[in-house]
Amino acid sequence: MTIVDHKILRNAPVAQLDRAAAYGAEGWGFDSLRAYNIFTRINPMVQNKNYNEDEKWMREALKEAHLALKKKEVPVGAVVVYENKIIGRGHNQVESLKDATAHAEILAITAASNFFDSWRLEGASLYVTLEPCVMCAGAIVLSRIERLVFGTFDPKQGACGTLYNIPNDERLNHQVEAVPEILKEECSKILIDFFQKLRSQKATTNGGNH
Ligand SMILES: [Zn+2]
Repeated sequence: MTIVDHKILRNAPVAQLDRAAAYGAEGWGFDSLRAYNIFTRINPMVQNKNYNEDEKWMREALKEAHLALKKKEVPVGAVVVYENKIIGRGHNQVESLKDATAHAEILAITAASNFFDSWRLEGASLYVTLEPCVMCAGAIVLSRIERLVFGTFDPKQGACGTLYNIPNDERLNHQVEAVPEILKEECSKILIDFFQKLRSQKATTNGGNH
C-alpha cells in the first residue's frame, strides 16, 4: 500500500459511503419487519394515545434533520420536550464537528441538560427521526428520559428494538417507554434520498476506475 494520508481519510465522509452501501442498493428502506416484530413482541401493549402530540414534536425533529442535510450530514434530527416545550434540539454533526459522538440525540440531550442545569431529564421525552444507536440509547437511559419516540427503525444500528432493546432492558436501572414509527414515511424518506444521492455521486466519481 502506498502512503496513506490519514488526515484525508479521516476527513472524507467515508463512514457515510460505507453506510450508503450498507443501506442497500435494492431500494431497501429504513424499515424492518423483523425489528417491528421484535418490538411488538417485547411491548405487546404498545398503544399510542398521544399520536397527534407525537406527530407535532416529530415535525420539529424533522426540521433538525433538514438542518443536518444542509450540512451534508446523515439527516437525523432530535428534540427533547418537557411540559409541552422544547428544551433541547440537535441534529447529526459527526462530519462537521469531526466527532463520532455528535449524534442528534446526544446534542439534544446536552442542550436539555444545560436547560435543566442537571443531567437528570426525568419527565422529559426525546423525539428522534431514526431509531437510536447503542451510544444514544445508552445516553437516553442514563439521562433518565421518560419517553422515547422515534420515526423509523434502523436495521443496521438500531438499539431500541432492532439489534438490541436497551430502553426496555430490565437489567439496567432505568427503563424508557419507547414508541416507534411516528411520521415513519417522512423520517425514512429523507434518509433514503440522502443515501441514494450519495451512491449515485460515488458511482459518478469512481467512473469505473476502482
Ligand atoms: Zn446515536
